[in-house]
Amino acid sequence: GTSAESYRRRHEITVTGEDVPPPFTSFEATGFPSELLREVHNAGFSAPTPIQAQSWPIALLNRDIVAIAKTGSGKTLGYLIPGFIHLKRRRNDPRLGPTVLVLSPTRELATQIQDEAVKFGRSSKISCTCLYGGAPKGPQLKELDRGTDIVVATPGRLNDILEMRRVSLHQISFLVLDEADRMLDMGFEPQIRKIVKEVPSRRQTLMYTATWPKEVRKIAADLLMNPVQVNIGNVD
Ligand code: ADP
Ligand code: MG
Repeated sequence: GTSAESYRRRHEITVTGEDVPPPFTSFEATGFPSELLREVHNAGFSAPTPIQAQSWPIALLNRDIVAIAKTGSGKTLGYLIPGFIHLKRRRNDPRLGPTVLVLSPTRELATQIQDEAVKFGRSSKISCTCLYGGAPKGPQLKELDRGTDIVVATPGRLNDILEMRRVSLHQISFLVLDEADRMLDMGFEPQIRKIVKEVPSRRQTLMYTATWPKEVRKIAADLLMNPVQVNIGNVD
């Protein structure tokens, strides 16, 4: 078979969809801007993880993705770097609202994503604001008012801020649902659907999940368009 097939076999990657591009088996193969390659080099990473290798070329084609992979597989940069490149292509004014939205189930996970976005986005001059409950809204609103490229949010707090009309999602064109199965387990489905109603339907949507039960399949079918499905390892 081809080298793409042998890489997929070695790393237990299965893909479903039309014309799935071959994985990027090295950082050099990604064609990422030099400032981003410098960041991954500085982080000490030697190669893309399997989920990154297979989902980056798909995401860079602006296609929707459902990725099913367990914790610790490098999913965060799997969507953040395509998000950075999307921002570079769009050149939207962050003062008119964010362009990239990442939904995450918990405050802890949201702040981890924020840290990764700040670390790897700094040299590309990308701004990121984190919105989560259990903390005062004031500082979060102040950060939004300064303008931001990326919002990382838990569904509850983002809905509160949307109801206050202190953020607009009309410029979002890159939407990520991280840990989708966990968000549904926590009862966030109505909140997620309410948020997505405010996001333009002309967008790229990426969904990450560790499991693939019917509730997750249903929301994927509703929110994604003709997605490529990427599975890593044996996940249920
Ligand atoms: P997941 O979201 O799949 O649970 P994370 O995105 O949190 O995984 O990544 C797990 C860890 O792996 C993080 O510390 C992250 O910085 C690191 N990591 C990400 N990409 C790579 C890579 N290509 N090589 C080595 N480590 C990586
Ligand atoms: Mg994660």
